[in-house]
Amino acid sequence: MLKTFSITDIGKRRKLNQDYVFASEKPLGNLPNIFIVADGMGGHNAGDYASKYAVETIKEEIAGSFEKSPVKILKKAIEAANSHIREKAMEKEDLRGMGTTVVAATCLKDKYLEVANVGDSRLYVVSDSKMEQITRDHSLVEEMVRRGGIAKEAARNHPDRNIITRAIGAEDNVNADFFHVELEPGDMVLMCSDGLTNMLEDEEIHMILSSQENVEVKAEELIKAANNNGGRDNIAVILIEPFAEP
Ligand code: CA
Repeated sequence: MLKTFSITDIGKRRKLNQDYVFASEKPLGNLPNIFIVADGMGGHNAGDYASKYAVETIKEEIAGSFEKSPVKILKKAIEAANSHIREKAMEKEDLRGMGTTVVAATCLKDKYLEVANVGDSRLYVVSDSKMEQITRDHSLVEEMVRRGGIAKEAARNHPDRNIITRAIGAEDNVNADFFHVELEPGDMVLMCSDGLTNMLEDEEIHMILSSQENVEVKAEELIKAANNNGGRDNIAVILIEPFAEP
């Protein structure tokens, strides 16, 4: 049985919450469930408009899709969101330049995850023994880490850590990454924005997720811990327990 909880928090420093989440344990269109985290960027209200509008467009597209393949459904929905964000940005001066990250996942037969990602929001699979980042950040520092330019630990505090190399709305075409993940009994899924991962080390996140609390308490503990460490950015968290006891 699927148990989930989703939450966003404005954090301690920002005046706006540009993170937006959607979680449905119930079917949407041909998907058995859907979970989405988006982290918007852009001045004034453009960032929160971008994340909300992208997620709402993705939801509509999924609901209306005749495709059977989850990957195709997600791919088309993300492309539609990109086109819509581009159009809106053309129409309105104050929305120009807006964009958003999106990480979207659907859990099939409680056993497999199909994940789509654009930007630097993340999806992790967490078990008692490990915490594995499934998505790869589309960010400048991630590219530097991959090329061996800087160490992974240095990336979290790098001055350019906010620069992302792919986003919904950034270009006419969007190129999402897709991941197929096989889940093991006991695995838990964490989806989050960088407002969580920039504030907490993997070990801290893992410790909170390893507690015996329910998903709701765990998600709230993550938010609390990120805020205690400074809460420099908005924080979005979705937790999924695919193998929860009813
Ligand atoms: Ca952020």
